[in-house]
Amino acid sequence: MTMDPTQGAERHAELSAEITEHQRRYYEQDAPTVSDAAYDALFQELLDIEQTFPDLVTDASPSQRVGGYASSSFASVEHLQRMYSLDNVFNQQELQAWADRVTRTIGSDAKYLCELKIDGLAVDLVYENGRLTRGATRGDGRVGEDITNNVLAVRNVPARLRGKDIPELLEVRGEVYFPVEEFEALNARLVADGKPPYANPRNTAAGSLRQKDSAETAKRNLMLIVHGIGASRGVTWRSQSEAYDLLESLGLPTSSRAKVLGDMAAVREFIEYYGEHRHDIEHEIDGVVVKVDDLAQQGELGSTSRAPRWAMAYKYPPEEVNTRLEDIRVNVGRTGRVTPYGVMTPIKVAGSTVEMATLHNGHEVKRKGVLIGDMVVLRKAGDVIPEIVGPVVALRDGSEREFVMPTHCPACGTELREMKEGDADIRCPNARSCPAQLVERLSYLGSRGGFDIDGLGYKAAQALLTSDDLTDEGDLFAMDAEALSRIPFFVKKDGTANAGALMLLGALQTAKEQPLWRVLVSLSIRHVGPTAAQALASHFRSLPDIFAADVDTLAEVEGVGTIIAESVKAWWEIDWHRAIVDKWAAAGVRMQDDAADAPRMPQNLAGLSIVVTGTLSGFSRDEAKEAIVSRGGKSASSVSKKTSYVVIGDSPGSKAKKAEELGVPILDEDGFRDLLNREVPAE
Ligand code: NAD
Repeated sequence: MTMDPTQGAERHAELSAEITEHQRRYYEQDAPTVSDAAYDALFQELLDIEQTFPDLVTDASPSQRVGGYASSSFASVEHLQRMYSLDNVFNQQELQAWADRVTRTIGSDAKYLCELKIDGLAVDLVYENGRLTRGATRGDGRVGEDITNNVLAVRNVPARLRGKDIPELLEVRGEVYFPVEEFEALNARLVADGKPPYANPRNTAAGSLRQKDSAETAKRNLMLIVHGIGASRGVTWRSQSEAYDLLESLGLPTSSRAKVLGDMAAVREFIEYYGEHRHDIEHEIDGVVVKVDDLAQQGELGSTSRAPRWAMAYKYPPEEVNTRLEDIRVNVGRTGRVTPYGVMTPIKVAGSTVEMATLHNGHEVKRKGVLIGDMVVLRKAGDVIPEIVGPVVALRDGSEREFVMPTHCPACGTELREMKEGDADIRCPNARSCPAQLVERLSYLGSRGGFDIDGLGYKAAQALLTSDDLTDEGDLFAMDAEALSRIPFFVKKDGTANAGALMLLGALQTAKEQPLWRVLVSLSIRHVGPTAAQALASHFRSLPDIFAADVDTLAEVEGVGTIIAESVKAWWEIDWHRAIVDKWAAAGVRMQDDAADAPRMPQNLAGLSIVVTGTLSGFSRDEAKEAIVSRGGKSASSVSKKTSYVVIGDSPGSKAKKAEELGVPILDEDGFRDLLNREVPAE
């Protein structure tokens, strides 16, 4: 940073004002206009300037106070003991530097109490002779807002402590949060009623807890986890973890995940573990809090005016950021579905750079209330696809404009239609020759889930479409060296076939031998993906037989059902679809799996429903499915009481937890292999 003192002072003043305004919106209105990550960046810049120009550190600086307000809507109350914020670090080096400072002060290795940093709202609870007499927000750390009645409406806050040894006075601090599942259910109800959903659990929890009418708070199923102690009389403890045990015995909710660890290597492991399992927890977290456990050592370390020196928050990379929605465009998919998507100023979120996010359909754009030009909240949680959450309405300047769903296909000009009356999804009906749909179908059939044709990716598919020899995918296998030589994409400068052409020609020959289910998948029949195709292929073993079967016969096949059966029938009724099959058959594409080349697997998994979650080292998702289905099992995607086994690979996500809760047997990859190889029909 190259700044002279005047520039430093100017920027410092700007940042102080900006941060104070963001704090007001966040704590007073529960409606921030910047993401937490952007706020943290401003705060960090302020700290950096203060490090260069220490004179700028005054009592008024945001760095010296707990950012929060006691608004006039509630009575003010003074906390018995001060409440602090926390200092942040964003990587392991910074955390280690903090640990080094700690050891320098207390002169020995500390024991560290590691806890999840719950993304909620801080509250202060006072119990006198076991009775809750006051609940308050953090406010500025000294004075908060009296929200006693609302705190009592939090589901697991005891109005009375239990047990024999009730302390005369007990002040505890904790985080009130909105359980993720409850939050999603609430949003689903809002959406079903045609109302806009809430942006995130934290701000919704804060808004719910700061209601005038506590009956409103009670409707929200908020929860508390206690993570701190304030004033007390009639009770003693030597460490924070000991205090938690006691609080728990008094009936206060503490976290079962807090752990006392002996060294920083174990602390790092704890941080890494929850970084990976961030979404397996019933509430949102934005990091881990590391605390020196021993209370005497905490006292020795003391606090600054804003935060204790004995604790540090390790923040995970943000999953919610704000970025500009520059445009909304539409994409025409493989089945003709027209999907609007947002084009945003590229931004890093959850470890990757995002510049596009689907908006699903026109109704969804309306429901989210986003306008082109809006600053929007973008969320990417773990490996889930990025989602535009909604606009930051307070930042509009009037230049934003509404998105209008096109009435005609942007690729072929055909008038778009609702698939069914009142359907939110709009499609281009020109399935046969709409270039957008054709290119998607061609590259899909070339992909690993289809015929697996090397040399037939998106670009090659686009090039093939320029050829007069190819009207639709029916002509693909008739494309020979001569036909390719007329397409510049496949020709070298000297006029001979290039490597891409040779690869494609070879791969087309091999593809003709692919098993029947891949042929079926490659037809792009709605709802017929690898699982349904494998089920159909292993039952009928012949494409003509599949298409000759009636809906009931098809629907009876394990893993098929009426929707898929009807979709197969509807597809076959269209002339040019039948022509594709005829042309492929004439070109020598496999139409039958016979016993010799597709040995029927022992049906040792018949009657079992198996869910695979996480990454397996020896099977792709499709291969695992194929292994299950080909042995007569059902490959299911969600865990229920009816699930027979859940197979867990790396980074499994919430399904593993669900399996544990429901008592469904869990297998690792070796267990899965054993299951596949069972000789007797599985019980
Ligand atoms: P903080 O939220 O980063 O950390 C302090 C708080 O963490 C404590 O007050 C406590 O309530 C909470 N906490 C959660 N789990 C805890 C645990 N296990 N142990 C101890 N404490 C725990 O700091 P802050 O000063 O409250 O707020 C700053 C943060 O709030 C920012 O980093 C940002 O994320 C957010 N913020 C955002 C905006 C915005 O405009 N977007 C404005 C202000 C604040």
